[in-house]
Amino acid sequence: MKETVAAKAGRYLAEGRVIVRALDEAAGIVSADVRGGGAVYTVARTRDTGWVCTCPARGTCCHLTAVQLVVAVERPEARPVRPMDSNWSNALVEIRP
Ligand SMILES: [Zn+2]
Repeated sequence: MKETVAAKAGRYLAEGRVIVRALDEAAGIVSADVRGGGAVYTVARTRDTGWVCTCPARGTCCHLTAVQLVVAVERPEARPVRPMDSNWSNALVEIRP
């Protein structure tokens, strides 16, 4: 039976084949190395280029999918940064003696 891209990506993670070299979630930048079948492929993402991989496969390969499983850079603007900040300061006031 042929292994799906998602299954293969999960296996790469489980086998420690994914090494994140650089990650800037705020800027949407990722650089990682993935050890695939006998070679190391570099997966990178920037806001300008989107996701790219150095392997010969077209489209979303298992290396891209594996890296996407461990980083969260797709929608940084959706993070509830402000509400979390105010909750934190409220919590601090409450525990103050
Ligand atoms: Zn690839």
